[in-house]
Amino acid sequence: MQFHDDEGDVVTAENRLHAIDGDRATAAVRRGVHGDGEVWSRVGEFGGYSTVYSHLSIAAGTAYVLVGFKRADRIAPPVGIAVDRFIEQQGYYGQKLRGGGGLIRIRHSLDKMVADGFVAIGEAANTVVPVHGSGVASAMLTGRLAAKAAAPALETGDTSTRALWPFAADYQRGRGRILAAFDVVRKMVDEIPGVDAGELFESGIIHRDDVLRGILVRTPGLDPRTLASRIPGMLRHPAMIPRIVRMGLTLKKVMAHYARYPMRYDPAAFGAWADEKRRLFGERAE
Ligand SMILES: Cc1cc2nc3c(=O)[nH]c(=O)nc-3n(C[C@H](O)[C@H](O)[C@H](O)COP(=O)(O)OP(=O)(O)OC[C@H]3O[C@@H](n4cnc5c(N)ncnc54)[C@H](O)[C@@H]3O)c2cc1C
Repeated sequence: MQFHDDEGDVVTAENRLHAIDGDRATAAVRRGVHGDGEVWSRVGEFGGYSTVYSHLSIAAGTAYVLVGFKRADRIAPPVGIAVDRFIEQQGYYGQKLRGGGGLIRIRHSLDKMVADGFVAIGEAANTVVPVHGSGVASAMLTGRLAAKAAAPALETGDTSTRALWPFAADYQRGRGRILAAFDVVRKMVDEIPGVDAGELFESGIIHRDDVLRGILVRTPGLDPRTLASRIPGMLRHPAMIPRIVRMGLTLKKVMAHYARYPMRYDPAAFGAWADEKRRLFGERAE
């Protein structure tokens, strides 16, 4: 198994849930600082791949904030200070109830998720959704798929790579395939010089259909019905057009490639698959 820990594929994030000061929150809602019951996510504030995600509920008496950005972007201040500043600026946060922080691997999954007597699931296997860093659902799904392969392996006493392989094949041909396609999207956005993700949303190049597909983990793609509303953004950023076309072509190739992930463990077939995957992602051999 090869683990991949490039800083460019890691996000540092921190979140906090607080009780609110009701009067201040009501006043903030009146001033338009935040909607009551509203959830919003502001992208691009701390570098191209970044989010400030916020929720306020006066009825529940809580406010939530999450800030996350790419580690490699070397953004100042550190993420915890960015959260402190946000809380201070909003003005209605009261006692802290819960919170945490950590790193999130946003790259597509490990090529090889099993070894003799060993499976990698969830965050350890890079199964987070690359475009927004959510990893809980994938962690649960990979846990379930791994158990389906591990239970018979334990019953028969054969816990070899070959016996555990069905877990990897199930995952890579299913959710892994979609998340690899999302990684193509992420890398395309990452590589745009001088235009951040926020501008892509503002200009209309990224459509709400793209956001929904990301959240619901549906295959990324361009719905022809969304084309007209993207045109003004594309005219504003014409250099984006060949990038988007290239991304669409790569995405299709990547998805077709993951559908060919070897069903059974065969080192030669797997090696050839991994070489081709590296080529599609423009990666060097590690
Ligand atoms: C601030 C923040 C906010 C996030 N928000 C969201 C969100 O809203 N939605 C979402 O889907 N994802 C979110 N994520 C990502 C999500 O938390 C992870 O992708 C997910 O928790 C991965 O699950 P996991 O079980 O693979 O790993 P983890 O949840 O990291 O669990 C691994 C566990 O193993 C334990 N462990 C480590 N080493 C050892 C050891 N040697 N022995 C025993 N135990 C050990 C750890 O303590 C930990 O409890 C967020 C991440 C961060 C950092």
